[in-house]
Amino acid sequence: MSKPLIVVVDDEPQVLRAIGRDLLSRYGRDYRIVRASSGQEAMEVLARERDAAQPVALVLSDQRMPGLDGVSFLAEVRRLAPAARRALLTAYADTESAIGAINRSQVDYYLQKPWDPPDQHLYPVLDDLLDDWQQGYKPGLGGVRIAGSRWLPEVHALREFLTRNHVPYEFFDTERADDRGDEARELAAGAAALPVVLLPDGVRLERPKVEDVARGVGLHTEASETTYDVAIVGAGPAGLAAAVYAASEGLQTVLLDREAPGGQAGTSSRIENYLGFPSGLSGHDLARRALTQARRFEVEVVTPVDVQGLRLDGPFKYLEVSAGDGGSRTISCKALVLTTGLSWQRLPAECADRFERRGIYYGASSTEALNCSGETVYIVGAGNSAGQAAMHLVQYARKVVMVIRGRSLGEKMSEYLVKRIESLAAADEQSIEIRTRTEVVGCRGADRLEGLRLRHAVTHEEDEVTTGFLFVFIGATPRTDWLGDRVSRDAHGFILTGSDLDAERDLARWPLKRAPYLLEASVPGIFAAGDVRHDSVKRVASAVGEGAVSVHFIHRYLASL
Ligand SMILES: Cc1cc2nc3c(=O)[nH]c(=O)nc-3n(C[C@H](O)[C@H](O)[C@H](O)COP(=O)(O)OP(=O)(O)OC[C@H]3O[C@@H](n4cnc5c(N)ncnc54)[C@H](O)[C@@H]3O)c2cc1C
Repeated sequence: MSKPLIVVVDDEPQVLRAIGRDLLSRYGRDYRIVRASSGQEAMEVLARERDAAQPVALVLSDQRMPGLDGVSFLAEVRRLAPAARRALLTAYADTESAIGAINRSQVDYYLQKPWDPPDQHLYPVLDDLLDDWQQGYKPGLGGVRIAGSRWLPEVHALREFLTRNHVPYEFFDTERADDRGDEARELAAGAAALPVVLLPDGVRLERPKVEDVARGVGLHTEASETTYDVAIVGAGPAGLAAAVYAASEGLQTVLLDREAPGGQAGTSSRIENYLGFPSGLSGHDLARRALTQARRFEVEVVTPVDVQGLRLDGPFKYLEVSAGDGGSRTISCKALVLTTGLSWQRLPAECADRFERRGIYYGASSTEALNCSGETVYIVGAGNSAGQAAMHLVQYARKVVMVIRGRSLGEKMSEYLVKRIESLAAADEQSIEIRTRTEVVGCRGADRLEGLRLRHAVTHEEDEVTTGFLFVFIGATPRTDWLGDRVSRDAHGFILTGSDLDAERDLARWPLKRAPYLLEASVPGIFAAGDVRHDSVKRVASAVGEGAVSVHFIHRYLASL
């Protein structure tokens, strides 16, 4: 396989030469730079590269071109090179169309001409886009290889885990009838149980646990110390922010997560309201950036570990943490930050358990998107996460059907998403359909999901639909039982902090003269931030803000010890 491609398109020969030259000098060593003078010509190049299975990393296009303009061309690129990052090169006067392009075609970025000096105005943005692309790039040699049926729940769990932990892997589907399927069957030959996982060092594992693969690819699966200044449970936006601020201010910090850094935000296909990212960014990208930052400040990130118990002894907090061998370890800390967020509620439909990860997925639209090509997929839920998933999946699936209980999408979803979905549905009712006042009440299939039973909320009429994919986004709840009775929570399990703590009900055992700090729970030195906190705003920015603010109070608490 040759070097991945960067394609640049501009109808003005002088501009094309200049941008081509700048790209070559910076990226020529690692990428092939291809220049095209029109969208049409570039599409022919992309079609050829797709047929030859050559990877395309980035497509950069001028906006004003005769025939196909930049925005329309970049929308087509999505079909020909779905993984490529796409950026528009605009004159100042075209800023409006660039912003429109971001909204309509989910273009990754827009750059303004002139871009001199490229070190300031061109390379930082392109470096970032290419770094992001590299995360998903599987060069085919030296990475993890998984062979098995794509319908096996274990396969889904491994792929989801590796994707979310930014570990490149290649998947070989043993059910495919083509050459790729033959390769898969060869890799799996002789195995007593699937999937087979081949690690980069040649070790072959049969139906391994996620923890074994995590260790095999060099993830940090056990804390190196037994005592820390600060332990943070949950590496979503709140936990990552707390970790970055704590470690950057000199506190020895461990960050523990049972799945992967990024939390719920890490599963979002596009976060559009996070300040400073006008084109939006994927949750995967946000998590990758935050994780890099945390590691730079020497946060010890441990994953996958489930924190299962809490014990208190004077100022020390002891966490019971699952270990890969099936046992558990204890970690102690002076200050503890609980940022465990929310977990998806399970679909109450009969038989939904049976098809979990065999066609029914909770918040996993990114990992499964490529599998949905040519299929009709169903999404249940009416919040922003369901809306984002619909906008993401519609680029891969033949058709997306949203099943919602309410009368309209606008009851729960942000207006910008409602508008986008409704305008897409109005423009092409074959691509997206919204079924209001409807519930999923049953599912059918043998080894995997094959269909759903839907019921209308008013008429109670039922109908059967055929589908192999249901993505569920029906709300989330905190899982905080493991905290025991010392950390006060509300009736739904959200952690009470600061002035929400009731003196009689929650603070009977509070040992200090001072009242709990803002974000401090019913035990001195235990803080809660983000979605798991009672009455918190369920947003990325507020989780990040609370995580950062908690560190301010940690300093005050530690100073008083
Ligand atoms: C699909 C989707 C799209 C979204 N889009 C947007 C958006 O566009 N804009 C926006 O502002 N918000 C969005 N949100 C909401 C936003 O993602 C959340 O508000 C935010 O992630 C909350 O962050 P958090 O750190 O509090 O918790 P979470 O993100 O929930 O992270 C909690 C972490 O704790 C870990 N954990 C839990 N219990 C344990 C335990 N016992 N041991 C170890 N680890 C544990 C979990 O594995 C998880 O990684 C979206 C949410 C979803 C699901």
